[in-house]
Amino acid sequence: MNVATNLLHIQNQIEQSCEASGRLVQEVNIIAVTKNVSVETAQDAVEAGILHLGENRNEGFLEKWEYFGDKAIWHFIGSLQTKKVKHIIDKVDYIHSLDRMSLAEEIQKRASKKVKCFIQVNVSGEESKHGISPSELSDFIRRVGEFELVEVVGLMTMAPNTDDKKLIRECFSRLRELKNEVQALGLPFAPCRELSMGMSNDYDIAVEEGATFIRIGTLLVGNK
Ligand SMILES: *Cc1c(COP(=O)(O)O)cnc(C)c1O
Repeated sequence: MNVATNLLHIQNQIEQSCEASGRLVQEVNIIAVTKNVSVETAQDAVEAGILHLGENRNEGFLEKWEYFGDKAIWHFIGSLQTKKVKHIIDKVDYIHSLDRMSLAEEIQKRASKKVKCFIQVNVSGEESKHGISPSELSDFIRRVGEFELVEVVGLMTMAPNTDDKKLIRECFSRLRELKNEVQALGLPFAPCRELSMGMSNDYDIAVEEGATFIRIGTLLVGNK
């Protein structure tokens, strides 16, 4: 397991996917998802040039944050319990899992500055997945506007559990359309320029479909 070698491989694939879709590699940010690995392995990622670290649980987030502090840009990517917001809110740079009004309300209550949030959208409609349904998205975003510390920087989704690349691509391309629709609303609190999509198994497709943040765990840092 060599994180620097893994990173080269991923960057190479990103280059190919960008070329295939007429995008610039600089538009794609790699988040190293370190939820299953030690601080030492996360350190390898930072030394290899990774700027963005992602965690999905409070404990793991705080452990890594204590160690790296402002040497990384911090992404909370997992479903976030309302009662835990206060522990992380002034430490995270991005929350990828805004999926309910009560969470927006709690962010407003606890944050001391604007928080960059992705709205998690359940594009695939799988019951096991969190997220706002596409049909409720524009209503939800308008209502989020009442909380001035919540900035909607983009949309996030998880691909369906399938090997069918066509279905995965449809999911990502639908999220891009939804992002364009939100942008077209012209809401000052919802610039919605970013797309958080793509993981170890499908980031190549996500990049082709417009991802600006890909969330990579296993393929980059392993999972133990
Ligand atoms: C774990 C996780 C990832 C990374 O998954 P890999 O398949 O290991 O790359 C990405 N996004 C979320 C929300 C996750 O929980």
